[in-house]
Amino acid sequence: MSQPNIPFPQSPVLPTMVDEKYVIQFSCHKGISCWNACCSNIDISLTPYDVLRMKTHLGISSTEFLKEYTLPYEMDKDSIAGVKLRAVENGSACRFMKPEGCGIYEDRPTACRYYPVALLSMRKQDEYVDRDSYAIVKEDHCKGHEVDRRITIADYREEQGLPQYDELARGWRQLVLKKKSSGATIGKPTLRSRQLFFMACYDIDRFREFVSAESFGKLFDLPPSEKEAMLADDVALLQFAFRFLRQVLFGEESISLNAEAAQERLVKVQEKRLIEEREAAKKRALEAESDMVEDDE
Ligand code: SF4
Ligand code: SF4
Repeated sequence: MSQPNIPFPQSPVLPTMVDEKYVIQFSCHKGISCWNACCSNIDISLTPYDVLRMKTHLGISSTEFLKEYTLPYEMDKDSIAGVKLRAVENGSACRFMKPEGCGIYEDRPTACRYYPVALLSMRKQDEYVDRDSYAIVKEDHCKGHEVDRRITIADYREEQGLPQYDELARGWRQLVLKKKSSGATIGKPTLRSRQLFFMACYDIDRFREFVSAESFGKLFDLPPSEKEAMLADDVALLQFAFRFLRQVLFGEESISLNAEAAQERLVKVQEKRLIEEREAAKKRALEAESDMVEDDE
């Protein structure tokens, strides 16, 4: 076990990282004295797969879900965005909390399933694999730790349906880790790439329109049957979204470009660069001229 840096002395996260074999003592069940205490004061980040499950449960589009039920936040300063569950108006409780428990239990988000365990995905700069470790969260109000039931984290993950949730959000976690680990070299992402990241990861219904558009079809060469199947399946489309983002954000080419469109695009980029270079040369010439006038005076 290693000791991570815990930046906040009051943090309820125990300062120890553990693996799947670690045994926790915990049980949460209706009738416990703290029932719903955790859902009364929320700070829940959502994965793209969480958004997909919740919007499907509610029978609304991802665009409506994001607007009505979430708040965007910056994962790092000037970096890519995440989304958090929005609490009730003028309060901190979850909007899905009901006296009998979670109103969307079968589609509750990853963070709710994990509690009181926290997933820590990490990647070392020189490694291509992500490593999952876990931390335990102990908050005074949660009496689940006092119940005499012992379970390994591996079994707890199974019990809470987490392997599927983690697998379908893995592509997103990898993008976030890659962005964080390459931040200094790649620099601040442009507004356009941040918007693309947000749409492709969280707003799957808008991403579907984007992929269906003529301009996308002109640029990317996808076999029609593969494209059709993907457009009809949110989960497949989300996995494609991660692949698309790896290509446009990190240059990991896995989607073939239409040769003609790629050539056209290259010509446009070169033209744009030429115009920028001319503008810069003009500006430099004007500055040099003005320096010479100042010297003469
Ligand atoms: S989604 Fe459900 S489990 Fe999660 S905070 Fe809301 S009510 Fe609680
Ligand atoms: S035991 Fe913990 S997780 Fe369960 S209701 Fe109480 S505070 Fe929430």
